[in-house]
Amino acid sequence: MSYDVIIIGAGPGGIFSAYELRRLAPELKLLILEAGHPLDRRRCPIDGKKIKSCIGCTPCSIMNGFGGAGAFSDGKYNITNEFGGTLHELIGKQRALELMRYVDDINLSHGGAGTKLYSTANTRLKKECLSHGLHLLDASVRHLGTDINYVVLENLYNELAEQVEFRFHTTVNTVEKLEGGYRVTAGGESFVAPRCIISAGRSGSKWMQGVCKALHIATKSNRVDIGVRVELPYEVFSHLTDELYESKIVYRTEKYGDLVRTFCMNPRGAVVTENTNGIVTVNGHSYEDPARQTENTNFALLVAKHFSEPFKDSNGYGESIARLSNMLGGGVIVQRFGDLIQGRRSNPERMRDCFTVPTLHATPGDLSLVIPKRILDGIIEMLYALDKIAPGTATIDTLLYGVEVKFYNMEVALDAQLQTCHEGLFVIGDCSGITHSLSHASASGIHVARYIAGREA
Ligand SMILES: Cc1cc2nc3c(=O)[nH]c(=O)nc-3n(C[C@H](O)[C@H](O)[C@H](O)COP(=O)(O)OP(=O)(O)OC[C@H]3O[C@@H](n4cnc5c(N)ncnc54)[C@H](O)[C@@H]3O)c2cc1C
Repeated sequence: MSYDVIIIGAGPGGIFSAYELRRLAPELKLLILEAGHPLDRRRCPIDGKKIKSCIGCTPCSIMNGFGGAGAFSDGKYNITNEFGGTLHELIGKQRALELMRYVDDINLSHGGAGTKLYSTANTRLKKECLSHGLHLLDASVRHLGTDINYVVLENLYNELAEQVEFRFHTTVNTVEKLEGGYRVTAGGESFVAPRCIISAGRSGSKWMQGVCKALHIATKSNRVDIGVRVELPYEVFSHLTDELYESKIVYRTEKYGDLVRTFCMNPRGAVVTENTNGIVTVNGHSYEDPARQTENTNFALLVAKHFSEPFKDSNGYGESIARLSNMLGGGVIVQRFGDLIQGRRSNPERMRDCFTVPTLHATPGDLSLVIPKRILDGIIEMLYALDKIAPGTATIDTLLYGVEVKFYNMEVALDAQLQTCHEGLFVIGDCSGITHSLSHASASGIHVARYIAGREA
């Protein structure tokens, strides 16, 4: 079975590379191989009643399938080089922004019209943050919301399916270099093409490591972000979220000089679990549809851990911490901030007294038994700093869910076309280690597609 381009993974990276290839070079025969389900068959069984926590489905409908890890996300497309990836380091800042804006246009023309674009430009909140040692990063944020994000994906799929061959439930095992191309094997089948784009995302990170090893592609890995998801009443952060929706705030701790940052803010959202290779961590999302909104806002507070030689397994370190919380709590642990400060665990009785009603069913426990002291101290310090710009943050009933781990895929050595040392083999999106977001992953797909279509060098 031979094609012009084989794309591995139907997340944002894979989808947008197919979209642009189909637009610029409709004569090319494209194949997308995807381990998960088509969009309409993706269902996470957690319903909060019969099934309350992750039961480890294979494939996981949250992480795999058409739309990738982003399918049930909040659909926040951050148009910025300040966070979400380091794509700009390879392709240039202007180019990266231009591609992110182009992705935004595509989303708008496929069902996203009418959604709001928030911006930090000219906000007085920046000054207020600075007066308390908090740094608000510049960004424009298109918030599609989980429901509109789904509609956009549905429309993109319907359009792509007319010209692109999709194979779902097809987990690629190997990518082999041939004379003038690549052989990709999945189950008992094999497919060949002169060009192959790998966009396997975070869930494909371990597999990607194996591909790099087999094909002698250089990689490096030294970072993991560890922290908690904070949940509090919507009103506490409403002055920030109403104006900016997502505010990325960075704080340097006085105690250790570590950087703690807010991440993935979900006004009126829900806390959710995430299963990465069998390890249950916490995340969050929110809906545009008012009927599905909650009384709470959630966001992560993360501390970046960079390791130096000889330690190389930064993700392994993050996994061990997440495993510890899974061991103690059977999944995610929740603790009231007040209990943490008083040095006691949260238990079902204390949770019953809690004014903030949790949106995720998690096991009440003690996060100080799980999260390293230095990281936890940083999180506590930042909660007090945030309390100055959003009074009500550092109160007894603020909920902390743990652990939230942001795994960084190892960074694959790529050139400015996102091509590996092997001609015709491209690695894009989160599995390249250079993107960690919807907009950057999507932009990387467009970048490679234009190069393959011969439109840009
Ligand atoms: C709950 C949640 C909420 C999020 N919210 C946001 C947000 O609001 N804004 C934001 O910017 N980012 C968000 N993210 C991150 C964002 O979803 C990712 O950065 C983005 O999806 C990366 O796109 P990708 O194409 O690189 O990879 P993915 O979206 O992970 O897609 C990779 C695809 O490859 C498939 N695959 C993996 N291995 C193989 C294989 N061997 N063979 C075949 N197929 C394979 C997977 O099944 C998957 O579908 C969120 C993530 C989660 C989990």
